[in-house]
Amino acid sequence: MQFETLAIHDGQAPDPLTGAVTVPVYQTSTFGRESLDSRPEFFYSRIGNPTRAALESTLALLENGRHGLAFASGVAAITAALQVLKPGDHIVAGCDIYGGSYRIFEQLMRPWGVETSYAESEATGSYEACIRPNTRMIWIETPSNPLLQVTDIRAVARIARERGIVTAVDNTFPSPYFQRPLELGADIVVHSTTKYLGGHSDVIGGAVVTSDDRLHHTIKNYQAAAGAIPGPWDCWLVLRGLKTLKIRMREHEATALHLARALQSHPKVAKVFHPGLPDHPGHELAKSQMHGFGGMLTIALDGGLPAVRKLIAGTKLFVLADSLGGVESLIASPAKMTLGALSPEERRRRGCTDDLVRLSIGLENAGDLEEDLMNALATI
Ligand SMILES: *Cc1c(COP(=O)(O)O)cnc(C)c1O
Repeated sequence: MQFETLAIHDGQAPDPLTGAVTVPVYQTSTFGRESLDSRPEFFYSRIGNPTRAALESTLALLENGRHGLAFASGVAAITAALQVLKPGDHIVAGCDIYGGSYRIFEQLMRPWGVETSYAESEATGSYEACIRPNTRMIWIETPSNPLLQVTDIRAVARIARERGIVTAVDNTFPSPYFQRPLELGADIVVHSTTKYLGGHSDVIGGAVVTSDDRLHHTIKNYQAAAGAIPGPWDCWLVLRGLKTLKIRMREHEATALHLARALQSHPKVAKVFHPGLPDHPGHELAKSQMHGFGGMLTIALDGGLPAVRKLIAGTKLFVLADSLGGVESLIASPAKMTLGALSPEERRRRGCTDDLVRLSIGLENAGDLEEDLMNALATI
């Protein structure tokens, strides 16, 4: 079956009790047992819940993996995936990664005895050069945040596999509709379902998908033991989002590309970052490992932070907000917002300059969004 069919039907057969065509919200903490000796599939909702099980099964299928696990947030999912490591292990991560992942690596993992080295996101050789004898995981985010750099998942996963290193990919930006890292050789995929998978800016959630039974067992055990699980209602919202993922992603991407082209020729815009543009350094690689380029767009403005402030103040349709992947378009300054917690040196090293503006392109009319951006650019 094709992607959109799986998104609507897998794990979501009509409810056996009532025939309800959507999976019910099983808002219950516990389940009655038949007898003292029975151990039913569901007995306590931290361990398992039917609404969550439907979501986990659908997530696994969409990523073409065997096992899916849902979490209370994207960072809870990332933390869970890192539980396959132990003190003394070492991580190699791309340097242009989500700020929250960086915080987990530096503020949670490092004091716990797991060090992280940072590779240039676009250079396979840089990941290889960072590998140490105790490296146990390579962490990739592609296209990256906020520069939309593209990492060669196949090549990095091959290098990792030869050395018995686990490859984990944060697939939040492209979503499984545009990129399925397990098919490219990665071992673990993580998501913030808060973004495109939920898709409507109304839920916080995360997911881990793997086809490796051993990794799954460790992460599932952590999910049950540490308990950062999403409630049934939040699972239901993500399930509903998944049903329209394909048509949303296509529209997000078409509008993002339209705007990317329109902005490229604007005199106030110094640079446009979108992997769908033929002059983007990762364009050919993106074509070879993705099924589309996504709905995120970053631009650099002539005039630095003052120009960024004017653009943000001048837009009427783009909401100034931190998240991404929803139906409404959002605008953000990576330097002041998503990566604001990093020191200026760290931001500079990552190429996150003050002149950047990150746009999450929503589902509004492309012409309306273009007009809004052009009007705002005219105020600079
Ligand atoms: C938002 C985000 C996360 C964290 O997810 P939360 O749901 O906010 O915890 C992780 N990775 C990426 C790429 C993100 O955009």
